[in-house]
Amino acid sequence: MHSTVFLNGEWLAAAAAKVSVYDRGFLFADGIYEVVPVYQRRPFLMADHLARMERSLAALNITAPGADYWQAVITELLARNQLDDALVYIQITRGAEANRSHIPTSAMSATLFASLSPLNVHWHQPAPLAVTLLDDIRWLRCDIKSISLLGNIMLKQQAHNSGFAEPLLQRDGYITEGASCNFFAVRDGVVYTAPKSHLILPGITRDHTLELARELGLEVREEAFAVADLAQLDELFLTSSSREVQPIDRIDAMIIGNGECGPVTAQLVAAYHASKRKLCEIS
Ligand code: PMP
Repeated sequence: MHSTVFLNGEWLAAAAAKVSVYDRGFLFADGIYEVVPVYQRRPFLMADHLARMERSLAALNITAPGADYWQAVITELLARNQLDDALVYIQITRGAEANRSHIPTSAMSATLFASLSPLNVHWHQPAPLAVTLLDDIRWLRCDIKSISLLGNIMLKQQAHNSGFAEPLLQRDGYITEGASCNFFAVRDGVVYTAPKSHLILPGITRDHTLELARELGLEVREEAFAVADLAQLDELFLTSSSREVQPIDRIDAMIIGNGECGPVTAQLVAAYHASKRKLCEIS
């Protein structure tokens, strides 16, 4: 499919977009990214995604244009491409320099890239998936949405190779998140998710789901969830911009609840769909 991408202020056919081999993104994975879902050409929770992007940039001391600039890029990206439902991908690296050096030179300008890919939007309750418990081998700044994703990729591959949709990650006896999504548990009607810290990516879908849960009158606790307590779980689900609210029915050989999407998860899936419909003004 022909697509038009944004690179450093230019609009190019995807195949014509090129960056330097001295780009620090290529040499060191020295950069960040962001993904914004778009439904019926309307970006969802865009301000929250762009605010997180600014936090990632600030954490790495990368100077780049702010939210207004990217909002205009997203509008133009949607106008120049034919997709109604899509994921906007934004990547910003520290830029290219003349030589490979761990310490960046000061006068570098960031490499700015944005593209669009098709999104298969769910409007029904998704079938539950199975996860496998793995040790979280990633670094200790998971709160930065860094393009350095080797840990996530190794874990995701390991899960996929043994037939699981996603790894469920544990560090020091507590669940952190998935390789590309946040973790939620339901026990005795209470919704749990890991607190925001350097150990997880603060998911925009996580925050929105917590807001929906509170609106539904559910009790929510942002508390570290112990691996030892997994056996007492009633429900488990994962959240991300692309997965939305994804029910999980099994951790390795352990069936969760009665092996179906639980009632709290179903309520949150429905509430999430309602948010999308509201955005699209579909009644
Ligand atoms: N955790 C990780 C490690 C992720 O990569 C992602 C994004 N794919 C998420 C959580 C979910 O974030 P969001 O809801 O903002 O898509």
